Amino acid sequence: MADNRYNPTKALVADWNHLMRVFLRPEDDASRQTLIKYMEQMLFGLHDFLKKHVGITEAKSLKELSENFRNTLISEDPEKKLADVITCLIKEIAPHAVNVASPYFVGHMTSAIPFFMVHLKAIVSALNQNVVKVETSKVVSVVEKQVIAKIHNMIYRRGSLFYEEHVQNTETTLGVFTEGGTTANLTALWVARNAKFAPKEDFEGIEAEGIPAAFAAYGVDRCVILASRLAHYSVRKSTGVLGLGNNTVIPVDIDDDYRMDIGALKRVIREIRSGPQRTCILAIVGIAGATETGTIDPLSEISQVAHENGIHFHVDAAWGGPTLFSRQYRYLLDGIQYSDSVTIDGHKQFYMPMTCGMLYVRDPKLLDVIAYHSNYVNRLGSVDLGIRSLSGSREANSLVLDCALKIMGANGYALLINHGIETAAAFAEEIESRENFQLITPPVLNILTYRYCPAHLQEKLPAAGEEEKERINWHLNMLNRDLQRIQREAGNSFVSRTALRQNAFSPAEIVVLRSVIMNPMTGKSILKEILDEQEQIAEDHLTAKLPV
Ligand SMILES: *Cc1c(COP(=O)(O)O)cnc(C)c1O
Repeated sequence: MADNRYNPTKALVADWNHLMRVFLRPEDDASRQTLIKYMEQMLFGLHDFLKKHVGITEAKSLKELSENFRNTLISEDPEKKLADVITCLIKEIAPHAVNVASPYFVGHMTSAIPFFMVHLKAIVSALNQNVVKVETSKVVSVVEKQVIAKIHNMIYRRGSLFYEEHVQNTETTLGVFTEGGTTANLTALWVARNAKFAPKEDFEGIEAEGIPAAFAAYGVDRCVILASRLAHYSVRKSTGVLGLGNNTVIPVDIDDDYRMDIGALKRVIREIRSGPQRTCILAIVGIAGATETGTIDPLSEISQVAHENGIHFHVDAAWGGPTLFSRQYRYLLDGIQYSDSVTIDGHKQFYMPMTCGMLYVRDPKLLDVIAYHSNYVNRLGSVDLGIRSLSGSREANSLVLDCALKIMGANGYALLINHGIETAAAFAEEIESRENFQLITPPVLNILTYRYCPAHLQEKLPAAGEEEKERINWHLNMLNRDLQRIQREAGNSFVSRTALRQNAFSPAEIVVLRSVIMNPMTGKSILKEILDEQEQIAEDHLTAKLPV
């Protein structure tokens, strides 16, 4: 058999030999050694990159980089061997990717992951199970049901009899894996929609007949969803996909602590109920860990309102869900157990690799409203997990989660959660102790927002007239926007930015710096360095333009 692996001068050809080499498992020692070498190169090559580039990314701009990626033809014959491809990824791609594992990267919900995740993910790929059906996954579907029941138990605590009955019950479903939080939220609203417009006499249900027929059958003019102003945009996206229209997401005002204002919620419901249109309130979405501020809606109170009004209560705990691991802080999510459904992301505070989302439902029959069957998979009465799932084929992410739970233990995850919350609290104190910074949203979990605001303006603002206030805030917004950009471009550290409406500091939107502390290597001294750098940038480049 010709082997051009050991003959670098020979051109690569896409022939049958080449094909066999990429498909067959290597039997001889030499090939095994080669593969192990590649694995090592991959693990340690990347480890080296992640260690070396403490900063976020190399200086080259995206525009410059994109010049190298303009060829739109697929090569006829192979261009590279595996070894070269790996080398290229390590040498040319990784250095220009973003080192999200850096402890100085505190701007987003993507961060370092435990090293074992890489191994687990590799095993999942190697096994290549398809969890859409048991015929392509067998025991893995059973593992998935078990791990879903474990997380369900953490959220809903319905007692051992309940879990005994449902953990491996093929007729019931406690939850479902999704691509991410967006698709989990979409699934939740899909379920709420189908449950509300269920089949009845002379009506086959909204899933079969569509919205106009459903509204006619139920005597409804429109359908709305209530969510706090801080709800993730995936809620709006979901209503778009579901054909309800994203104008039907009604933002409920928040209180001074950035939590859904219960009075406002009740008021909105009253107004809707007494309005001229026959309106169906499909769901109330409560957030457990708002993307921008990390704040948590009053879940218990919302659940009560939802219950009294017969409305589906969905909790978007994409970010905050794993707080339940922490004995110290799980009280923050109190009320989540009364919800009808809960979104949690695996790739956020379960520290799983991209991507993994999950949706949990209190009632094990609720997901029946999205069931689909076909003749070749997902047959009636089968165990196939694809029956009640937005996805078709999908990877066995449940194996990664299950193993991670075993390696970490609830207490291991609790340590991460506690560290994030406590470090964020210390960071908030540090911000408040510096006269040129202003804490905007104090951390409830491990997310906070603040802005650069020189002492003299902090003094001036409260007493300023409306126009003056607006002018000062306009300048501050510009400054903080530039500050964030300059710091990001310098590449030593990364804090993100957003704009917050409805706040105590300004009637208009204000630009804030946002930090998310989830990397266990991010400690107080690093955060101080980040503030020092920001102060330096502001003094060197920005404060001269401010009003006096
Ligand atoms: C991240 C996030 C989402 C979206 O999740 P993706 O995994 O990015 O699709 C939804 N809601 C909240 C609160 C989030 O933090």
